[in-house]
Amino acid sequence: KNIRIAIDGPASSGKSTVAKIIAKDFEIIYLDTGAMYRAATYVALSNGLDEADFAQTINILKENPISFGASSDGQLVYVGEVDVTEAIRQPDVTNAVSGMAAIPEIREYLVDVQRVIASHGGIVMDGRDIGTVVLPDAELKIFLVASVEERAERRFKENLQKGIETELTTLQFEITERDRKDSTRKISPLKQAADAILLDTTGIGIAEVVERIETYAKE
Ligand code: C5P
Repeated sequence: KNIRIAIDGPASSGKSTVAKIIAKDFEIIYLDTGAMYRAATYVALSNGLDEADFAQTINILKENPISFGASSDGQLVYVGEVDVTEAIRQPDVTNAVSGMAAIPEIREYLVDVQRVIASHGGIVMDGRDIGTVVLPDAELKIFLVASVEERAERRFKENLQKGIETELTTLQFEITERDRKDSTRKISPLKQAADAILLDTTGIGIAEVVERIETYAKE
């Protein structure tokens, strides 16, 4: 299949979980664009750089490209040869990523890479600006939302599985804050594309969400 599916939405709305399953079912590529912004943020932080040093961050990324690998329990993320899969999910990166993602030059660089990857054929890409900016002519666009309570709850359970106990109210605050930053930035803000299908997953299981999207894809 050569279908291109764009899945956008706020933080922790289940985008990557459903995108991975759809990619497998349709035998198409899955691209987690959030992981790329996280990797860029990790590169900056680990080199003592900040948002103003975007040129240096981009140079490091050009010399050490972001790539993906497969593992039994998901996707591995690399910067050059370094496995950053765990590092890009740490709180320091999560808290800094929205700032980094608001830098036009960083977006321009990553969007170029994303479009090259999408030019190879069928793909399901998840992010914030896929339907609006990266792939405006995607065959299917989904905007996935869920209540902040439920998103925090899902994150809470994921963290517990990793042995981390977090306050629900803290998670709610972090999610709300990241959504606020992502939807109010000047460049490519988090926004539903005019031709995207809105899917509210509050109270709906993963299998049901996947089925609905796959049904749209076959229409
Ligand atoms: O999807 P995830 O939560 O991993 O994304 C991390 C951050 O990367 C988002 O909060 C947002 O700031 C940024 N992002 C973006 N555009 C995308 C994907 C992610 O700005 N297409």
